[in-house]
Amino acid sequence: MHLARFPRRRYTPYPTPIEPLERLSAHLGGPNLFIKRDDQLGLTAGGNKTRKLEFLVADALAQGADTLVTTGAVQSNHCRLTLAAAVREGLACRLVLEQRVPGSYDPEASGNNFLYRLLDVEKVTVVEGGSDLAAAMQREADELEADGRHAYVIPGGGSTPLGALGYVACAEELLGQTFEMGLRLDHIVTASGSGGTHAGLVAGVVGASAGIPLTGISVRAEKGTQEEKILDLARRTASLAGASAAIPAEAVTVLDDYVGPGYSLPTDAMIEAVRLFASLEGVLLDPVYTGKAAAGLIDLVRRGRFDRDDNVLFVHTGGSPALYAYQEVLLG
Ligand SMILES: *Cc1c(COP(=O)(O)O)cnc(C)c1O
Repeated sequence: MHLARFPRRRYTPYPTPIEPLERLSAHLGGPNLFIKRDDQLGLTAGGNKTRKLEFLVADALAQGADTLVTTGAVQSNHCRLTLAAAVREGLACRLVLEQRVPGSYDPEASGNNFLYRLLDVEKVTVVEGGSDLAAAMQREADELEADGRHAYVIPGGGSTPLGALGYVACAEELLGQTFEMGLRLDHIVTASGSGGTHAGLVAGVVGASAGIPLTGISVRAEKGTQEEKILDLARRTASLAGASAAIPAEAVTVLDDYVGPGYSLPTDAMIEAVRLFASLEGVLLDPVYTGKAAAGLIDLVRRGRFDRDDNVLFVHTGGSPALYAYQEVLLG
């Protein structure tokens, strides 16, 4: 795979660090845990959507767009980062926010919602959970076209094959880093939501024949549904990237045991994970994605899923601004 064939904007002028989590590893009694700091990616407050937007926004610019239109939940990191990319490129941005939890939209809320306003979003449209989001975004695009403007619509999470190339690039980056560090990886754990991160990592790891098993921790969907979605997106991403190796179904593993009562709803294990990462490592997770993914990682360690001398990499996909909308839950 030769990703330089694809137009790309650069929003992070460095590889994100891989760091040992020594105190957390000792607290849990091994294995050796490491963290890939994608919370330190570029654009406002970082996080995984930045890698996808490098390819998506390059495509938008190539198509002559003047406005980005996208969608997400009411505290969406993806919406914050798409808006930040638009600001950086001198484009306008409109957001369609889905109230996945009824009544969850509060125009005065802190966290990402506050940042939408600070970054000067052009328009926010709130729709009920389960709405046809593609149709809602198309209405915005049509309205803009009627005004002589040109919209570029980015599906939720930026999880198209083009967006997922960002995580093929991440897989290549981390394989290069671990080679330089002399670090043999035995397992990779990541959050799995709209899927571009998990699918891109699978396409990159399989495409490099690296033989590192990957576990995706679902934050919303049930295991079977999510595995099907990831496999399909990983295959389409690999095909776009020009990979020759086929992706076997066994390359995709999703656990759905850490979702709790539903997307974005707190669990005790999430609260414990957020507190452990903060108090032992000074690392901020988030309540919706990385808190639940880390809860999965911690539970797998406690249940003896890894050998004591295994090296396990946790991909920190970002999201810390959402913490500020959950202060009472986390300190409560
Ligand atoms: C969107 C998001 C994820 C999930 O990534 P997908 O590519 O949508 O599966 C994980 N962590 C954070 C912080 C996110 O914002």
